[in-house]
Amino acid sequence: MFENKKIFILGMAKSGYAAAKLLHNYNNEILITDFKEQDEDHVKELESLGIKFVLTDKPEDLLDDSFDYVIKNPGVHPNHIVCIKANKLNIPVTNEVEVAYSLLPNNVKIVGITGSNGKTTTTTITYEIMKRAGLPVVLGGNIGYPVSSLIGNVKEGDTLVLEISSHQLNDIINFKTDISVLTNLSEVHLDHFGTYENYKNQKVKIFNRHTKNDIGILNFDDKDSMEYDNKIPSTKEYFSISSKKDAYIEDGYICYKGEKVIALKDILLKGNHNYENIMCAIMVVKQFNVSNDVINEVLKEFKGVEHRLEYVTTKNGIAFYNDSKATNIKSTQIALSSFNTPTILLLGGLDRGHSFEGLVSYLKNTKLIVCYGQTKERIKEFADNIKMDCIVVETLEEATTAAYNHASSGDTILLSPACASWDQYKKFEDRGEDFKRVINNL
Ligand code: ADP
Repeated sequence: MFENKKIFILGMAKSGYAAAKLLHNYNNEILITDFKEQDEDHVKELESLGIKFVLTDKPEDLLDDSFDYVIKNPGVHPNHIVCIKANKLNIPVTNEVEVAYSLLPNNVKIVGITGSNGKTTTTTITYEIMKRAGLPVVLGGNIGYPVSSLIGNVKEGDTLVLEISSHQLNDIINFKTDISVLTNLSEVHLDHFGTYENYKNQKVKIFNRHTKNDIGILNFDDKDSMEYDNKIPSTKEYFSISSKKDAYIEDGYICYKGEKVIALKDILLKGNHNYENIMCAIMVVKQFNVSNDVINEVLKEFKGVEHRLEYVTTKNGIAFYNDSKATNIKSTQIALSSFNTPTILLLGGLDRGHSFEGLVSYLKNTKLIVCYGQTKERIKEFADNIKMDCIVVETLEEATTAAYNHASSGDTILLSPACASWDQYKKFEDRGEDFKRVINNL
C-alpha cells in the first residue's frame, strides 16, 4: 500500500516525523508540511534522507493529483482544506497508525485501547502486567510513541499494546486490532468532531473489521457504549462496577469469570474509575493466560500514571495524592469520589471564571480546602458560602505545607486543583513535580 508512492504528510510533530521516516524505508517520495516551525534536528534529518519539508500556511497549494496518499496528523481538523481538496482529487486521506499497521511484520497481535477517559491508565496497566508476565510486548500509540516509530522494534510474535485516540480512529482504513477496549464514552472533543454522534461513531471504529474471532471489551455500566453493543461483531466481554458481568466487584475483590483476582485493599490506585481501568486490563491479560499472582504483583506496586491521581507517599500516616492533571471540575469530582478518608483538598490555579459549585456534593469527606493561585479568592468565597474551612495562600508550596500542618494520621492530602496550571506553571506536569518536590522536603 505504501511502497513506491508519492505521499503528502500534513502536519509534522512527533507522528508526522515518525511516519516520514518509516515511509522513507519503502522507497516513497515524501513531502511533509507544517505551519509551525519544527524541531531543527528533525527537519535536517528528514532533509538528509531526501524528504522535502515545507513550512507553509497554505499547504493546499502543494497538493495535486500526482500524490497517492495524504497522511494527516491526528491533531489536524478533519475538514482541513487539504483533506477537502484530497477528497475532490480522489486521494485517500489516512494517518500514521494506518501506515504503521500496513508495514507490520506477520503474526503481530494488537491490543487497542480507547475511550473518553482512562486510556493512558488502562494502557499502562495492561502493558505493565504483560511485561511482568514475560510476554513479548511493545507499548505505543497516543501514549507518546507513534506506532510508526515502533515498527523497527516489532518482531513476529510480539503484541502491541496501543492507546488509540478518537482523532487517530477518524482516519483509519484497514487498521484492525485483535483485542479492543472501549473504556467509556462521554461528550468531549466536539470542536473536532462537530457532534457527539459523530465522535461516538469514530470511537467505535476501535472495533473496525472485527469478527467473532476478535475480542471486544465494553463498559456494561455506560449507557452510551452499550448503545453500540449490537453493532459490534466481536466476541464481547463486559465489565461492571454494579452487576456481575465478565469482570466485576464482589466481596471487596475484583473478579473475573467467577474467580477472585485481586483484593481492592491491595490496590494502590483509588476510585471506581480506576477499578474500571483495572478490570479492562485484567480482561485483556486474561486472554494471554496471565496468572493472578503476576496481576497482584503489579497492582500492589502500581502508583498510577504520573499526575493522574498518583499515589506519592505516606508521611506520619498522611497519604499524599498528586492529581495535577485535574484541570477542570469534572476531574476533581472523580478524584474526590475516590477517597473515603478525611481529605484536605488543594485547589487553585488559572482563573477561567469557572464555577466551583459542582464540587459541593463531592466534599463530604473534605475537612479543609487550601487554595492558592489566581483563583484563590473565588475559591475562598465558595468555601465560605458552604461553610467549609478554607486557608488562602499564594503558592502550591505554601498550600502543601499548610495542608500538612493541619493534617492528622489517617488523612489524605489531595492535589486535584480543578484549574489549569498556567498562572504559575508552564504545564500541569511541572505543577505535579513541584508538589512532589515539596512533599519530599516536608
Ligand atoms: P485519558 O488517557 O483517556 O485522558 P487518563 O488515564 O490519562 O485518561 O486519565 C485522565 C483523568 O481521567 C484521570 O485523572 C481521571 O480524572 C479520569 N479518569 C481516568 N480513568 C477514568 C475512567 N475509567 N472513567 C472516568 N474518568 C476516568
